[in-house]
Amino acid sequence: MLVLAAFPQGKAFCFLRSFEMNYFVRFESLQEWAERHTAVKPLLTMPRRILDQIEITDEMLEQLTSGVEHPNPRVRFECAHLADHIDDERCFEILFRLCQDDVPRVRAEALHGLACEQCKSCPLPGGSVAILVEAALHDLSGKVRDKMVMTFASHSPDARISEALQYMAEHESNLQIRQKALQALKQHAVTT
Ligand SMILES: [Zn+2]
Repeated sequence: MLVLAAFPQGKAFCFLRSFEMNYFVRFESLQEWAERHTAVKPLLTMPRRILDQIEITDEMLEQLTSGVEHPNPRVRFECAHLADHIDDERCFEILFRLCQDDVPRVRAEALHGLACEQCKSCPLPGGSVAILVEAALHDLSGKVRDKMVMTFASHSPDARISEALQYMAEHESNLQIRQKALQALKQHAVTT
């Protein structure tokens, strides 16, 4: 407020605008990153039915893997999203790394990919259910716990998942997630 009072209105606006712009230019945007990673770029806009069929090259995999370290969470999210949809077991390494991400949306997408049977014909990595159950029960973000419940609802029968859903249906702190866990448990029990 002191800054605003010290400048005529027009100048104060310019000052704040440039401050905002300085903040935004710190991160390369997803579009800019895609321009530099031409092998991955077409995948970002590819319809899912085509993406599911695509055979990824070493170059695509290398570029996708490099996105895991990117400072912009939108880039990391897209890498997790693509690694989920591309039916290739070499993408699991990307998902394992991103399921530790600081940003809940990125973490949730990567965790989902580790257990998403709908997107994969290759076997899911051993130990992925244990990681998902841990996230469903203990992740601090409701967004992540919610995503786990949604993922569990369509997962093939697994006693560890039923147990986790049962526990969440009774003890989850968020009412909406608790209700979804109960629904997911019923759905899971039907397929068991
Ligand atoms: Zn999926």
